[in-house]
Amino acid sequence: MDDTSATEPALADGSETGGSGPNGYRCRVCGRSFPAAHLLVLHGGVRHPSELTERESAEFRAEYEREERQIRSFRIRALGTLVVLYFGFLFMYAIYAS
Ligand SMILES: [Zn+2]
Repeated sequence: MDDTSATEPALADGSETGGSGPNGYRCRVCGRSFPAAHLLVLHGGVRHPSELTERESAEFRAEYEREERQIRSFRIRALGTLVVLYFGFLFMYAIYAS
């Protein structure tokens, strides 16, 4: 595989380059397809860690940290939503049930 494309993940076999659709990015080890490049990178690091090159491992670590930040952000927003709902219903109960 050539390294000419910066957006193409290293684990992709290069047969499918479409950015969307069920056959967007195909794993060169197991043949599974992913609709986005970062999903293929994460798949490679989780399912085929022994097959990764140095570049693919670096891509996986960077993508893993990026996803962890997204998950942490989602958890904080979900907790905030639950707190707002809880106190919203609590105040509605205090106002209308008395
Ligand atoms: Zn695979």
